[in-house]
Amino acid sequence: MKRHVLVLAALFALWLPAAERKPNILFIFSDDHAYQALSAYQHPLKLLETPHLDRIAATGMRFTRALVPNSICGPSRATVLTGKYNHLNGFYNNTNSRFDPAQQTFVKLLKGAGYQTAVVGKWHLVSNPAGFDHWHILPGQGIYYNPPMIRNGERVQHEGYVTDIITDLAVDWIRRRDKTKPFLLMAQHKAPHREWSPALRHLGWDKDEPHPEPATLFDDYAGRGLAVRDQDMTLAKTFTPSDAKLTAPASLTPGQRAAWNAYYEPRNEKFRADQPTGKELVRWRYQRYMHDYLGCIKALDEGVGRLLQLLKDEGLEDDTLVVYAADQGFYLGEHGWFDKRWIFEESLRTPLLIRWPGLTKPGSVNHDLVSNLDFAETFLDAAGAPIPADMQGRSLRPLLAGQTPADWRKSFYYHYYEFPTPHRVRPHEGVVTDRFKLVHFYKPDVDYWELYDRQKDPQELRNFYDDPAYAAEVARLKPELERLKRQLAVPAQPPREAFGDLPLAGEPGAKAPKPPLKKKDKKSGAAKP
Ligand code: CA
Repeated sequence: MKRHVLVLAALFALWLPAAERKPNILFIFSDDHAYQALSAYQHPLKLLETPHLDRIAATGMRFTRALVPNSICGPSRATVLTGKYNHLNGFYNNTNSRFDPAQQTFVKLLKGAGYQTAVVGKWHLVSNPAGFDHWHILPGQGIYYNPPMIRNGERVQHEGYVTDIITDLAVDWIRRRDKTKPFLLMAQHKAPHREWSPALRHLGWDKDEPHPEPATLFDDYAGRGLAVRDQDMTLAKTFTPSDAKLTAPASLTPGQRAAWNAYYEPRNEKFRADQPTGKELVRWRYQRYMHDYLGCIKALDEGVGRLLQLLKDEGLEDDTLVVYAADQGFYLGEHGWFDKRWIFEESLRTPLLIRWPGLTKPGSVNHDLVSNLDFAETFLDAAGAPIPADMQGRSLRPLLAGQTPADWRKSFYYHYYEFPTPHRVRPHEGVVTDRFKLVHFYKPDVDYWELYDRQKDPQELRNFYDDPAYAAEVARLKPELERLKRQLAVPAQPPREAFGDLPLAGEPGAKAPKPPLKKKDKKSGAAKP
């Protein structure tokens, strides 16, 4: 008995300082990084090695089912900040949504709890960052070479490659931080977003070795509904000359342009001479796409390596929670596609690697349904700050400690809105479980359901909705979808602006459309913020 008390007291003493100590939070976030292109995920195509990202996995936890509630950039970022679905944080799409900076975010709450807060890199929420002691962001989507940025409201012109610049800004901020406070740093990359422009040092990194093709590169969409058949995101039809680097980006300096031309021009010459068509054209585009997309990830991985080294050099390794995630997944030629948006696995799932020193067993793997909805609560939990009841995720702490609660979510609600531009993916909502996806495509010219079974059909090529063998599953999942919608306070009808298809002038609810892009900045070639 006495011994038990002593052991408990000793455990309490060990626990107390750790609980009182507020860890730093380094949140490294990329844009459109597919888990297929992160070697810790062991994708069968083995597209490239990411040794530095893999180190986060090796010293922390790798999540195999990190899902986003709406697979596009701005909405995902709004969810990260608020811990809420888009119908509550108001950011539905990249066309006409604007983040209301007055709303509650985990950043403001961390700042209130004594954290020093900063964001560098891509922001993409239209309104300025709120709740940060320091911000230094790309305007809008940002550009890859020599990007203009905005530092605490002031325009700054940078020279160099965007991923290196963002890493430099993150390194610099950590070095100059207020050492009396714990910090939150959000280091948010543009890469590997379209148009997938690598650092000049990585041009030709693959030595022209062919990249393996996904099995569904020539998917014919048979057996699936109009939404899948009628999208506009294929390598065959949607891929543009600038996507293919048949034209050079406008913002290169003359010296950079020479290096750019030295790689692309001889290969483009051969392409123009060969004039491939049909499947051969798709194959050529896929190879160019992979050279560029994966090339972007090389600089990203190097940047992660520099940040991990910095934590070591600054003696912060044991006190810093490191999170790596992307804002959604991405298609690397699967179904013939690039881009994202769908409830299907490649876009629904993101890479998620978390290192929580002292809590997480190194090299561990978690297969539960987790989400970027959970980040806000995880960070507040780590800081020992109260978690507001209106957040809709859940702290990942128990999972990171290796103990998934029995009542952890077994189903996940998904809702995509933006239509028709830019890729004509029809709005859909659905419920996702470990095995199944029940999807309702409901707008504007469709109203039908599909059921996918990842166990039988991992590539999601078959719709089992009308198969009598799946009737019981459909009957189980439909009420589950309704239950989730009630629990998450999803409105019966999304507001019209959710879709981004603005009402026409004169229609009820019509607003002035977004102004066209401002005149190009002569120096950088970038649109002014
Ligand atoms: Ca994105």
